[in-house]
Amino acid sequence: MRLAAWLITLYRRTLSGRIPNVRCSFAAEESCSAFGLRVAHSGRNVIGRIARRLRRCRDACLLGDGRSISWTPLHDRAPADIVDEMQRDGESDGAIARMLQTRRAVARYRGDHAAFTACAMALPGPARVCSLPLVVRRARRRLAVLVTLTLAAIALTFVEPWLGALAAALTAAALVSARTLRSRLHRFDLHRGKSGSIGIARPASARPTKYTIDATPQARPTTTPASTMPRHG
Ligand SMILES: [Zn+2]
Repeated sequence: MRLAAWLITLYRRTLSGRIPNVRCSFAAEESCSAFGLRVAHSGRNVIGRIARRLRRCRDACLLGDGRSISWTPLHDRAPADIVDEMQRDGESDGAIARMLQTRRAVARYRGDHAAFTACAMALPGPARVCSLPLVVRRARRRLAVLVTLTLAAIALTFVEPWLGALAAALTAAALVSARTLRSRLHRFDLHRGKSGSIGIARPASARPTKYTIDATPQARPTTTPASTMPRHG
């Protein structure tokens, strides 16, 4: 997988850390590009492991509007399953602890005591939460740009027929973008009713000392601007 290693190295030398509003969820542990490079050099199931890592970059960040949070389907799974899969992919202990930090926030929000205690390996402190309104605004802006470019490409196809392929690719990108936004909004609506507000949901049987890590007001999940949406560093 020399090509993959070369492309990742090129990305790290030219774009990584220089793209505005971009931050990798695992930047403090092992960024996606660092992980990809390590995987590429290992030569073992490179594409699959990198693809799963890129999904995890988004999985590790919650969406929030100040009262409710939403999470990706990964956090509907048991913490042990998440750990198993990450270990099979050769993820570092730090990256696993980062993901469990997010899983623990979901467990607390849902009042799931078993899952909460199963996240003992999680990093201390609050999970990262991206602002839903800012994420939606950004997604809509991206969609508008894609639609505009698609229409321009279609118009220019009469002059340059090869632009038809570009128009098709842009259309596909716009459809994926729209579907992703719709799915995230749908999930947010589903999760909105799971808890009154962040920090309130606790299992009735839980001892308060179990929840001192992120149940205190100052340690609640903090909403970060979309300017730091998970991307691959
Ligand atoms: Zn990343």
